[in-house]
Amino acid sequence: MSKFAGKHFAILGAGRSGLGAARLARLHGAEVTVMDEGAPEKIKSALDKQHAEGFRTLSGQAAKDLVVNPGDYDLVILSPGLDAGWPFPKKFTDAGVPLTGEMEFAFNLTDMELVGITGTNGKSTCTELIAHLFNACGKKSVPCGNHGMSLSEVVSSGVPYDVLSLEISSFQLETIQNYRAKASLWLNFAPDHLDRYPGMEEYYAAKARIFENVTGQDVAIVRAGETVDTGKAKKMTFSAYGAEADWTYQGGRIHAHPDGVVFDVKSTLRGRHNMENVMAAMMACQVHGLSLKDMRAALNGYEAPAHRCELVRVLNGREFINDSKATNLHALEACIGAMERPIVLIVGGKEKGLDYTPLRASLNGQVRAMVCIGEIAGALKATFQDLLPCQTAVDMADAVQQAAQISKPGDSIILSPGTSSFDMYTGYAQRGEAFRSAVQSLN
Ligand code: ADP
Repeated sequence: MSKFAGKHFAILGAGRSGLGAARLARLHGAEVTVMDEGAPEKIKSALDKQHAEGFRTLSGQAAKDLVVNPGDYDLVILSPGLDAGWPFPKKFTDAGVPLTGEMEFAFNLTDMELVGITGTNGKSTCTELIAHLFNACGKKSVPCGNHGMSLSEVVSSGVPYDVLSLEISSFQLETIQNYRAKASLWLNFAPDHLDRYPGMEEYYAAKARIFENVTGQDVAIVRAGETVDTGKAKKMTFSAYGAEADWTYQGGRIHAHPDGVVFDVKSTLRGRHNMENVMAAMMACQVHGLSLKDMRAALNGYEAPAHRCELVRVLNGREFINDSKATNLHALEACIGAMERPIVLIVGGKEKGLDYTPLRASLNGQVRAMVCIGEIAGALKATFQDLLPCQTAVDMADAVQQAAQISKPGDSIILSPGTSSFDMYTGYAQRGEAFRSAVQSLN
């Protein structure tokens, strides 16, 4: 495979996406230099593992100073965590080097079929579920993209999948050129990532690119009420919130129109928002030939992914729910909507420019108290303390203890932070684990 023989690519970012792209480029004969401005010791082990594959590397200060000539490279491949407008990539594009995103790069090197999934919330849940449905129904699949393995890792692995379940973030969509899929999911859209985008319009425009290259043979699966332009694709809709749609959820059951098949879902996926994820996932798999009958069997007993409305423990009549993955207001509201009991809410984390006042209307008297944590604890308390009792906590153990003390038997105590975790943790998973261990130490 020498498609890129004699070419030298600069790969920006030494995470899973960058290293996957480097390996894929090498497989196709390119020379690669993986560049990362991060501290050399931080990325050393990741890069070390790859040295056997003949990567050149540039990290830390040497990458910051760009001690190489950008004009010597034939292509720059961008990891999704980086913005093409940042100074590091701009040094290459200003020197006339073409830029592509890691996902787009891998897309152009495979002819495997794929389902593309985007939305503000529910992407990972759907991506996992779609791969599960395909595998359970006899089509080999893997969740990938923005979730788990990068597309480059999957393509470079050489494993022949029947259909890839590809989670796509707005960041990955920013750099597409040819990307398209037979089934594309638009789960929902709500404010998020305002620390990365100047405004909502830019975030929306990036996400809407999922439909940019679709053809008349492709299907766009869209939440009813979303106004996104789905281009040439055949549009199908779903709603669990009473809107008119091709697939709906009413009276505790899914109605798969137009066939009129009605069924309930026996899994640990809680709440209407998860029923939207189930509908969207099944619709996508149907486009790829799975039957409703087989999919319903495969859903039976399905375990929802961790950190998303996950029941951790029942103690003294209280249930403790870990929804650490709720990193924006829309996810937090969905979690509140999924609960039937009174709630003591543990909320807060990193300041990322979101406005929390709309949450006042969603509390519905169902949230009886809040325990606020992290960088925005004080601001949250100031926003809500006229409505309900609000306390601040110094860390997760303190928050869980305070929440347990305020709560009554029959309550749900929920960690649903409504923002990201990087003020206190390495990510939502570590935050969820901190909650889990604080809950396990209660007696
Ligand atoms: P993503 O990958 O888009 O971040 P996840 O499936 O990891 O999505 O879920 C993130 C958060 O959003 C969790 O708190 C989850 O409970 C919530 N959530 C999941 N699906 C939906 C949905 N369809 N609508 C609203 N919130 C959702």
